[in-house]
Amino acid sequence: MIDFLIVGAGPAGMSAAVEAIKHGAHPVVVDNRPEPGGNIYAYLGSNRSHRTERMHIFGPDYAKGAALLDAFLAAVAEQKITYHASTKLWQVGPQGGYAFHGPDGSQSGIAKKILLATGAQERPMPISGWTLPGVMGVGAAQILMKSGGELPKGNIVIVGAGPLPLLLTEQLHQAGRPVSAVVEPKGSSKLLAASSQLLGAAAAFKTSSKGAVLLAKRFLRRTPVWRNASGLKIIGNEQATGIQFTAEKAVDLQASIVLIHDGIIPNLNPLLAASLDTKYSQQQQTWHAQSKGAVYIAGDGAGILGVEAAVLSGRMATLDALGQSNSPRDIRKYAKLKAFRKFIDAAYPAVQTATHAEANTILCRCEMITAGDVRQAVEVHGTDPNAIKRSLRIGMGPCQGRMCAHSLADFTAAVSGVSSEDIGLQRARSPILPVSFRALSALKD
Ligand SMILES: Cc1cc2nc3c(=O)[nH]c(=O)nc-3n(C[C@H](O)[C@H](O)[C@H](O)COP(=O)(O)OP(=O)(O)OC[C@H]3O[C@@H](n4cnc5c(N)ncnc54)[C@H](O)[C@@H]3O)c2cc1C
Repeated sequence: MIDFLIVGAGPAGMSAAVEAIKHGAHPVVVDNRPEPGGNIYAYLGSNRSHRTERMHIFGPDYAKGAALLDAFLAAVAEQKITYHASTKLWQVGPQGGYAFHGPDGSQSGIAKKILLATGAQERPMPISGWTLPGVMGVGAAQILMKSGGELPKGNIVIVGAGPLPLLLTEQLHQAGRPVSAVVEPKGSSKLLAASSQLLGAAAAFKTSSKGAVLLAKRFLRRTPVWRNASGLKIIGNEQATGIQFTAEKAVDLQASIVLIHDGIIPNLNPLLAASLDTKYSQQQQTWHAQSKGAVYIAGDGAGILGVEAAVLSGRMATLDALGQSNSPRDIRKYAKLKAFRKFIDAAYPAVQTATHAEANTILCRCEMITAGDVRQAVEVHGTDPNAIKRSLRIGMGPCQGRMCAHSLADFTAAVSGVSSEDIGLQRARSPILPVSFRALSALKD
């Protein structure tokens, strides 16, 4: 029997595991990526050993992950932590039930405690043309680069505002692939309006000054920035070839790579599948989950607060799970990081592009369901996302709603006048990630 199962080897999961061994526990860690690191430290191990020329692209904040990564890998080597790489958790239940599959085999059972450190994903950004080849998330492009891959040749345009687009603009410059333009959708950048939260930003001075430096670099490099863009459309037949929008005047830019971004949201499927209680955050326009019963939560899943908070919350959740108390210092620091996030969220609110999706814009990429289809379904079935799911199969494809459940809630809210919060998300069913019959048949029970 597994006593302590940690899902996710990002900053929160690695920190949780390292803390657990200090208290005599032997955690089992599963992560569906081939290397530990999560999103911010993705492929750090490979890059620092085999692709050292890439380390400068991702900057000092990336290299800083080495201390945590080394502590984690050392404990794995000493067999104090059992770590299954490339292993996906595909089932999780509120009483600690789990099933996962990877190169080390298939396992299922009931763990005494499970910690979901399953992190974040980019908020889907359904605009016209977003399913064309050549279009991908800003974060996805960054992970591709961290994994050793290259973006295809051609003009790169970033559509979106916030910390990640700013960072990637700089990283692409360092990689010798400067972006040809940044397009900030209307309402995505409200730096001046966020001044009321400046006290929170001052509380995390180091982090906010990094943002200011990135803004200054973008300005000094004269990267063209189009602000308040509305009516965004990615153009192309077989492949993205450009982007059109209105920003005081009609603009038509050439682009064969369009990197879209509307902030990040918790990776909600595992949290919903575990029946954790979720609460809508007006500040982040998404749902956050809380630990419940045998299932604990740490990192971005509990709210998007950044890497420092992820590391801290991994430690704090482990202490909770092991029945130990948290230090007042950690509790104070976590509160400080939360205050800083208020500033970021006010400065870069989500645009929720689904709310003004046109009838032929695809909301569900797996089943090719458009906003027009959803509008009709709402007229017939009302706003219940599960009824709409049953009628259209939206959320029933291989992604199991990861790329459409949020958009469905936001679009339904826009057409019905009921809030996204009241509409809620579809139920998440197992398998939360695709699993083969071979994996199922390999289970003992
Ligand atoms: C694409 C992307 C890129 C980012 N890049 C940066 C950056 O460069 N700089 C920065 O400051 N912040 C970045 N962030 C934000 C950053 O993720 C957070 O600040 C912080 O790292 C969150 O840590 P975490 O441990 O909570 O989650 P994550 O780092 O998201 O790690 C979660 C891990 O859980 C794994 N996982 C999820 N579901 C399952 C499952 N069912 N089975 C098995 N494994 C699973 C994931 O593969 C991942 O490895 C990025 C976020 C995203 C989404």
